[in-house]
Amino acid sequence: MTTESIDETLEKLETTEIYSIHRIQTFLLKEMHNFMYEHNFVQLMPILISPITDPLNHQVRPATIHHYDKKLHLTASMIFHKQLSLIPNDINNIYIVSPNIRLELPELRNSKNHLLEFSQFDIEIKDKDMWEIISLVENLLSTSINRTREACKNEFRHLGRELPELKPPFPIYSSDELLVKHGTTFESEMSRKSTTPFFITNFKREFYDKEDQVNPGTYRNFDLIYPEGFGEALSGAEREYDYDRIIKRMNELNMNLDTFNHYLEISRRKKLPRTAGCGIGIQRLVRYLCGREKISDVCIFNRSIDSDFIF
Ligand code: AMP
Ligand code: MG
Repeated sequence: MTTESIDETLEKLETTEIYSIHRIQTFLLKEMHNFMYEHNFVQLMPILISPITDPLNHQVRPATIHHYDKKLHLTASMIFHKQLSLIPNDINNIYIVSPNIRLELPELRNSKNHLLEFSQFDIEIKDKDMWEIISLVENLLSTSINRTREACKNEFRHLGRELPELKPPFPIYSSDELLVKHGTTFESEMSRKSTTPFFITNFKREFYDKEDQVNPGTYRNFDLIYPEGFGEALSGAEREYDYDRIIKRMNELNMNLDTFNHYLEISRRKKLPRTAGCGIGIQRLVRYLCGREKISDVCIFNRSIDSDFIF
C-alpha cells in the first residue's frame, strides 16, 4: 500500500491540471443534466444506506453499518431503488447522480479503472427495451462529449489531449461473437485497437439483468466500451421484474432470498415495473475525456484501492 503523504496531497491540489480536468467535468455534467431535462427525465436524490444494495457480479468486501439493531448496506449501486422509484404511474424516466461504495479486493489493486468510491450517472426507464436505452445513451454521450470538446478547447489544450469527435451510431457486437474471434481478453484488446466507443451485448451476470426468453442462456444486457484502451464505460440491461423469473435467477446464483424478502414481495404483488436502464461511471468518463493514465488522476481525493489516503 502506498501511503499518501501531506506533500503529495498538497502537490496534487496545487497543480493547474486538476483545475482543467474539473472545468471539463463541470461542463460535461451541465450538458448531461440539460440533455436529461430536455428528454423529460426527473432527477432523484441518491440514498446512501439501505437494508439491500446491488449484490454485484464480482466480489467486494462488505460495506455495512449498524443503526441500533438494523444492518444497513452502503450503496453499491442504486439498481433496486431505480426500479422502485418507477412504481408511481406518472414517473416514467428517472436519473440519479449517486455515490457508490465498492470496497474492491486487492486483486484489482493495479487496475487503472477502479476506485473504492465513485459516482454513477444512473438512468432507468419504464416500458423500454435495451435497444432504446442504447440509442438514448449513445445520443446522451455523443452530444455531451462533442459539446464539451468544443467549449473546453483551452482546457483540453492545457492537458495535451486531442479528443476525437464522436460519430454515432457506435458499433454493436455480441460477447459470444467476440469470444470466438479474440478469446477471453476481447474487451481490453478491442478497447485498445478501437478508435470509436462500441457496445457489447449479452453477458451472464447479476440476477436482475433479463434473460432472453426466446433464447434462454442469452441476456438482454450490454456494456459500452471506450476506445484507446480506456475500457468499460457503462453497463445496462432490461430488468427481470416477474416474481418467478427473479426467484429462478436468484436460485441459479445461490443467493440468500431472505435478504431480499421485501423486494421479492413487491414483485410477487406484481408491483415491480418493467424497466430498462444503465449506469455510467463518471470518473471513468472524465478519465477518457481527459486522456489520463489512471482514474485517480482525475480525482482530487484519491480513492484508489492501493492508496492509504489521508483525507
Ligand atoms: P457496474 O454496474 O458494476 O457495471 O457499474 C456501473 C459503471 O460504474 C461501470 O460501467 C463503470 O463505469 C463504473 N464503475 C464500476 N465500478 C467502479 C469502480 N470500482 N471504480 C470506478 N468506477 C466504477
Ligand atoms: Mg459493468
